[in-house]
Amino acid sequence: MNQPCRVGCLLLMLGPISYFAATQARPFPGPDVKQIYDRLLPQIEKIPAFDHHAHPGYADDPDIDAMAAPPDASLPLRTRDDNPELVDAAKALFGYPYTDFSPEHAKWLIDKKAELRKQHPGAAYFDSILDKLNLETSVANRAMMADYLDPKRFLWVFFADSFMWPFNNEHETARNPDEGVFIPLQEKMLHRWMQQENIPKLPVKFSDYLEFIVRVLADNQKKGAIAMKFEVAYFRPTTFSDPPRTQAEDIYQRYVSGAVPSEQEYRIFQDYIFRFLVGLGGRLHLPVHIHSAVGIGDYFNLSQSNIMNLESVLRDPRYHSTTFVMIHGGYPLEREAIWLAAMKNVYLDSSFGELVQYPSAFKQTLKMWLETFPDKITFGTDCFPYNQVLGAEESYWLGVQSSRTALAAALAEMVSEGEITESRALELAHGYLHDTAAKLYEGRMH
Ligand SMILES: [Zn+2]
Repeated sequence: MNQPCRVGCLLLMLGPISYFAATQARPFPGPDVKQIYDRLLPQIEKIPAFDHHAHPGYADDPDIDAMAAPPDASLPLRTRDDNPELVDAAKALFGYPYTDFSPEHAKWLIDKKAELRKQHPGAAYFDSILDKLNLETSVANRAMMADYLDPKRFLWVFFADSFMWPFNNEHETARNPDEGVFIPLQEKMLHRWMQQENIPKLPVKFSDYLEFIVRVLADNQKKGAIAMKFEVAYFRPTTFSDPPRTQAEDIYQRYVSGAVPSEQEYRIFQDYIFRFLVGLGGRLHLPVHIHSAVGIGDYFNLSQSNIMNLESVLRDPRYHSTTFVMIHGGYPLEREAIWLAAMKNVYLDSSFGELVQYPSAFKQTLKMWLETFPDKITFGTDCFPYNQVLGAEESYWLGVQSSRTALAAALAEMVSEGEITESRALELAHGYLHDTAAKLYEGRMH
C-alpha cells in the first residue's frame, strides 16, 4: 500500500470528527472571517494565560537576565523604545494621559508607577500587573529570583550556561565586543553558583565538578525552579558533538587551574557538559529551555545558531525523558522549527515572535503552527524592561495583546476556511495560551 492511500484510508476510518469542518477546506477565508474574529477575541481575552517565557522585574535589577544587552546593538523596528504602541500600553495599564514620552510626560508615568508600588507593596505590585493582563502565571527567566516577585505567580527558570565556561576565558572574551560583555557575566554566574554551594574554588577532580553541577540544579529546584534555560547561542555555535567523558575529563584536568584551552578543546568540553545537563534535565524532571532564535547584538551569528543545529540532540533517544522547550520557536526559522515538535518531548514557545513581528505577520506563524502540531506550542511574551520609564509592564502588555489578537485572527481564518469548528478553535486557544505549558509543570508549581 502506498503512503497517500494509507493516509486516505486513515482519514476515512476516522470519519466525521466534530472538530473538523464538514467540507473540504478552502484556500481563502470567507466574508465571515471578521465576524468570527470578533466572536473569538473576547473569549480568548477571558482565558487566564500562562506566560512560558518572560523576564519580569524592574529596569535597575541586574538579575533580570544572566547576560546583558551589548552596547549599541541594532534593534529591529518594533522592539525599539520609541514604538508608538507603547503609548497604548501605558494608557491601558496606567491611564497614561499623553500621546508621547517627552521627558516631562514620562515623569508622570514614573510617578504613577511609584505611587502604585506604594499602594501594592512588595510582591503585590507585579501580581497586580498580571491581574490586569489576565496572566494567571508567568515564568521568570532570571539569574536569581527577586523578593518582589510572588513565587505563587512567578515561576523561576534559571540559567545553566555558565557551567560550560569554567576555564580561563581570555580568548572567548576577546572574540568580539559582544562576547566581551557576555562572557564575564557567565563567569560571574558560575561564581554565584559556587557561592551558593560554598565552594571557594573549582574542584580539582572532574567528577567533583559534575557533582557540583548536580547539586546546583537540585538546590535550585528546591528553591522553586521549574526549568533550566540555555542562551548558549549567544556565546558559541549550537552544533554539539558527542565526546566521551574521558576526553572532557582530560581537558578539565589540564585547564581547571588557569591555562587557556584552544577553541577546539573548549568546545569539546562544552559539548560534553551541555549533553550532561540535558541528560540531568530528564533525570531531575527539570525541563530544558533553549534560546533558539536570532538574538540581540550585531555579532549574533544566525547560521551558527540555527535551531536545526539542535536536531541531533532533540531527536537523540537517550534524551527521550528530557522535556525541551524551544524558546522563541526558532524565529525566523519557525517554519522548519515546528517539525522538531514531532518529537513527543519537544515543545515550541512563541515568545519574541509576537514582539518583533506585527500581529499581521505573527498571525501567519501561529496559523502554520496550529495547522501542524497545535498541541505542542505555547504562549510567551519575552517581556523585558525597555528603560527606566517603560518597563516589563508595557512589554508584557504588548506581548499579551499581540498574541491574543494574532491568535484570534489565525483561528478565525482557520474556521472561515473550513479547517476547524469554532469550538475546536477555542480548545486550541486554551491549549496554546495556558494548558499545554501548565501541564509540563503539573505538581511542580506552588
Ligand atoms: Zn528571553
